Amino acid sequence: MNKDKRLRFVSGAICPKCKKIDKIALTKDDKKIFCVSCDFEESRSEIKHKD
Ligand SMILES: [Zn+2]
Repeated sequence: MNKDKRLRFVSGAICPKCKKIDKIALTKDDKKIFCVSCDFEESRSEIKHKD
């Protein structure tokens, strides 16, 4: 079981491009987020929560 095809979704995240919810997933290296529904992709630092 070395395959890692399971995507880790950002729960509750809404894609700013296609507006679909729960379609934003993390890349394997955690550095980017992307949408599985369209071609949206962004650096993960853009979505850090304000504290
Ligand atoms: Zn999208």
